[in-house]
Amino acid sequence: MKASHVLGCRHCGTIQATPDRHRGVLDCAACGVGLERFTGRSLDAALAISVAALLLLLPANALTFITTSLFSAEEHSRLISSTTVLWRQGWPVLAIAICLFTVILPIVRFSLLTAALGALRLGWRDAWIGPVFRWSNALQTWAMADVFLLAFLVAYARLAATITVELGPGAICFIAAGVLTLLSRATLDKKAVWKLIAPQAAVDVCQPVLSCEACELLVPATQAKRPCPRCGRRLLARKTDAVARATAYTLAGAVFYAPANILPFATIPINLQPTAYNIIGGVHDLLEAGLYGLALLVFLASFLIPVLKLTAIAWFIYSVRAHSSRKLVFKTRLYQLVDEIGRWSMVDPLTVAAFVPVVRYNTLLTARAEAAAPFFTGVVIFTILAAKSFDPRLIWDVSEQTA
Ligand SMILES: [Zn+2]
Ligand SMILES: [Zn+2]
Repeated sequence: MKASHVLGCRHCGTIQATPDRHRGVLDCAACGVGLERFTGRSLDAALAISVAALLLLLPANALTFITTSLFSAEEHSRLISSTTVLWRQGWPVLAIAICLFTVILPIVRFSLLTAALGALRLGWRDAWIGPVFRWSNALQTWAMADVFLLAFLVAYARLAATITVELGPGAICFIAAGVLTLLSRATLDKKAVWKLIAPQAAVDVCQPVLSCEACELLVPATQAKRPCPRCGRRLLARKTDAVARATAYTLAGAVFYAPANILPFATIPINLQPTAYNIIGGVHDLLEAGLYGLALLVFLASFLIPVLKLTAIAWFIYSVRAHSSRKLVFKTRLYQLVDEIGRWSMVDPLTVAAFVPVVRYNTLLTARAEAAAPFFTGVVIFTILAAKSFDPRLIWDVSEQTA
């Protein structure tokens, strides 16, 4: 039987028919997780958001970001200042990560997205569009303009209590770009874009088929290990060494988790005294300052989410190894949650990155990153990689074998 309205669920691997026309969300028949979301928004809207975000990121990088003043002294920063100051404070790995997440990757991501959507808008169907769109999607996790926006709010709330903080034009542009990043994530109808790049060709679903990990194109299983005709990704039935790689990243994250929580995270001036704080201490300070919402947010992002991620991925790995067929739907949904929220844990390191360049008045009034910040950034990166390298379809595969 040949069919072109078919789909391989990326969460559980079930191959199923999809209706020709549909509105709203289409859920997987097996695991119940959303398969397709028809936002009804046009390609033009997605392209406009992408172009606007890109155009705002350029002045956000070039213009003054924050100015702080204390008595008659002033400090100015630009977006890149976080990187240079962290580097000078002796944290080169942290500096490089911050530079990638806030400066380079947001620009790369929106450049690729603008190129792909712009080409489609012009009616082009060249072979490069698929791979470019795939890369722009892959960078969505690592381009953290939206996470930095939140971090910036936390930093602003903390600084404004001690010194006068003024937002520069760069920060205003960056805030707008951060909001557009959120909007782009919410509105981009990836399925519709993939269909424009190349619609699903009819495949014989009675024969073994496999689904492209990146664009979900269904192809005969005989195509395995070749590049996907639509997006260029190597076609594989399941991610290579998913369990081994997820285990390695989870262990690395767990090892980094202890120093990330025990060591001081940063030193900031509180009541004109340099005060070192660790993650929980930072939450405590925010509570003392009456910033309950921010305290809850930092507690969730910095303490609870990393624990949840490490425990959840360890559970998935155990389930696959133990051929468990219990709570399949719950595990699938939890995997999706872990994969989505992981990047928001970067709020705390990004908060430190936001204020170190503008609190450098004298030996008492100086902010600096401390040893926990790079360890914590390591935890976030390793847990994101663990989630990305794990293949949730394995949870369902092993249960089928035992059934
Ligand atoms: Zn499914
Ligand atoms: Zn593909």
